[in-house]
Amino acid sequence: MPRRKVPRVDARFKARYGSTVRKRWNLIMLKRIRSYECPKCKHKTVKRTAVGIWRCRKCGFTFAGGAYTPLTITRAVQVE
Ligand SMILES: [Zn+2]
Repeated sequence: MPRRKVPRVDARFKARYGSTVRKRWNLIMLKRIRSYECPKCKHKTVKRTAVGIWRCRKCGFTFAGGAYTPLTITRAVQVE
């Protein structure tokens, strides 16, 4: 069975900066881009608007969170 491919948003760097750094950056950026569940209306529409600021596109609920994920490991269970 073929292994599931990780989406690549680091393709823009081509061969630069080293594979390990690019892989690490890619995983963080995927978390940043992804839509998360809204704590208020439960729709999967929460997107990052700025560093630490997350906004639901359905109900407009805006809240402070982590830089790359709405919840950080130290504050709650890691959002995957
Ligand atoms: Zn909402």
